[in-house]
Parts: sequence; C-alpha cells; structure tokens
Amino acid sequence: MAVGEQKIQSDNLKAVVRHIFTQAGSSPRECDLLADHLIEANLKGHDSHGIGMIPAYIAALKVDELKLNASPRIVSEFGSTIVLDGEVGLGQSIAHDAMAMGIERAKKQGSSIIGLHNSHHIGRIGHWAEQCAAAGLVSIHFVNVIAEPVVAPFGGTVARVVTNPISIGIPRDGHAPVIVDFATSRLAHGKIRVAYNKGVTVPDGTLIDAAGQPTTDPATLFSDPRGAILPFGEHKGWTLAFACEALAGALTGGEAIKGVVTRKAIVNNMLSILIAPNLMGTAPTYIRELEEMIAWVQSPAPGAEMSVLLPGDPERKTRSERLRDGIPVDSATWAQILASAGEIGVSTSSLEAVAGV
Ligand code: NAD
Repeated sequence: MAVGEQKIQSDNLKAVVRHIFTQAGSSPRECDLLADHLIEANLKGHDSHGIGMIPAYIAALKVDELKLNASPRIVSEFGSTIVLDGEVGLGQSIAHDAMAMGIERAKKQGSSIIGLHNSHHIGRIGHWAEQCAAAGLVSIHFVNVIAEPVVAPFGGTVARVVTNPISIGIPRDGHAPVIVDFATSRLAHGKIRVAYNKGVTVPDGTLIDAAGQPTTDPATLFSDPRGAILPFGEHKGWTLAFACEALAGALTGGEAIKGVVTRKAIVNNMLSILIAPNLMGTAPTYIRELEEMIAWVQSPAPGAEMSVLLPGDPERKTRSERLRDGIPVDSATWAQILASAGEIGVSTSSLEAVAGV
C-alpha cells in the first residue's frame, strides 16, 4: 500500500536543503548550487535525484567520503580539452564549475571536451546539458557510476554496473532546449528507491530477483541477497552502459567499475563534449533543419489522438505543475531526511519550520 505524502513548495524545500548543508559546513554558494539542483530535479519530476538524495550525501559526509567546498582540480589541458579531478567534492558544485570551464573554452574555440573524474554524485545529468544549452551550446554527456552495482548486463543475471546515464542538450532558436537525459537501466536506481519508499511495485521487465527471475517488487534491491535492474532496450541499453564505462570511467582518467563497491560515496565520472554551432559555421542550417524536422515529427497523423512530445517536454510540464501545486514528498523519504539531518545536529522542529509543514 502506498504511504502518505505531503506537498511542499519548492522555495521551502530549497530552504530545507540550505539549512541542512549550512549546518554540514557548505559555503552559501555551494548550498545554493545544491538546493537549486536538487529542487530542479524534483520540480522536473525526477524525484530520484531530488531531496531524496540527502540521506546518501550525509552518510558519505559522515565517513569523510564526500568533501564539501571542493573545486575541480586541473589534471591536464590540451587545446580545448581539459581533464579535471572532482576531488570527491559535492557533485552539484563540482560539475557546475567543470561545465563553466568547458563553456568558456567552447565559446572561444568552437568545441571543448571535459573529462571530469572522481566527483561525488553529480545528480540529474540533464542539468549539465541545460547549463550548456543556456550558453547556446550543443552538449553530449556520458557518465559512469562507481557505487554498489545494481544493473545486470544484458545476458547476465547479477548486478555488475550501475545506472550509467547519458544526456544530450540541443539548444533551439526561440524555444526551450531539447534535453535528452536518461539512465541506461530500465529505471533510475533512485526511482526504485522511491517506489520502495512508497510501497508500490515497478513495471514488468524492470527487475530480476537474486535468482535471476523477473519481479516487480522493488524490495529485491534492498534485501540480501539482492536482485538487479535490467538495462533498457535489452542489448541496446547495455551497449550504451558499456560505452559510459569506457568513455566516462576510463577515458577521463577516472575509474571504470570492476568489483563490489562498499564505500558510502557515490562517485561519478563524466565525459562532456560541448559544441558551438555558430563557430562550426553550420548554425543557420542547424536552426533551420532542427525546426523543420520538429514541425514534421510533431505534425499530427490523420485521426491521431496522441501528440508527439520532444525530450524535455514532460519535465517542463511537470515543472509548471509542481511550481504551482508544490512538490510531493512521501512520508518515508521525509522521515529519512529528518533522521539523517538529525545525525548532523539539525533538529526536526527547525526543519519542519523551514519546510512549512
Ligand atoms: P526517464 O526514463 O524518465 O527518461 C527521461 C528522458 O526521456 C528525458 O529526456 C525526457 O524528456 C524523455 N521523455 C520521457 N517521456 C517522453 C515522451 N513521452 N516523449 C518524449 N520524450 C520523453 O529518465 P531516467 O532514466 O529515469 O533518469 C532519471 C534521471 O536520473 C536523469 O536525470 C538521469 O540523468 C539521472 N541519473 C543520474 C545518475 C547519476 O549517477 N548521477 C545515474 C542514473 C540516472
């Protein structure tokens, strides 16, 4: 049975994040970057990458596996390519700064490649594509995850990799950008955590249990022995998950997954490719072809009832609804946040006051 939930306004939830991480020791700037990122994920409907991540971050912080107020360190530079060490810093600030460096280079040189390794969890990858798109840049991001394996390769029956996401940002002229952004697993790990917390099942074809048999019960990922998430699109998702290991894990000078991970930190490595259409000399064609293609793919088939959405449209719709109505927070997630905040000295009463609940 689903547990209860309450709706909290986005500004109040941002204040909750800032309140907890100020107490943890983050600078005001880091608190703002984190709060903006987490609440943007919630607003866009990706609760897996919103405030529900706070307990995991605090768990890593408490064992000194997540560093606050860190900056990306330049490891090597060649032309417009730059390799950065995220120093296991808070990913929402590390990746923001890494993208800012890439944007600066791409705007001068037409393109840039950013190999960011060893950052703590960088959250919703579409956020980084949006940052690049806001600067007028096309961007492609491959990410791998060094954490407890939860995804079985196609053909495998046990978890070997994590949910390795990919994002592509496609800016448009006079319209919001198209944002492709997904995990290479059938569902993001956090969405299975959200389903588990809510006491609901996940769709058929998402999970296998520890015996390799199909199941819809999210508890299989939170019990011992554990089941696994399947890749999306069968072998196709697996090939992309593999590419993430090679490009984000190995090529950035970071780490590809190669065993059981027991530490609390969630480490992300990301290879980002940023392209400036205006410096490529193809901007007029890019804009024209993109818009004409969009008009074509969205033109209704005779008698059709369903409309065709572009990547990024569902998130924008959810965002406007949640800005108006508040963000639903289930009681299990809220209890986990209160408990973890309590572990670093933030009282429940102070958080409830900030949240307005
Ligand atoms: P998802 O399955 O909800 O897919 C989202 C993508 O599909 C978006 O681009 C969305 O606009 C598009 N989309 C959805 N419905 C559509 C429709 N009807 N028409 C057209 N486009 C549509 O995403 P997911 O796999 O659950 O991933 C959720 C989030 O988790 C992502 O933001 C991802 O970056 C993040 N993630 C992060 C990590 C990490 O380690 N940092 C790991 C895995 C996932």
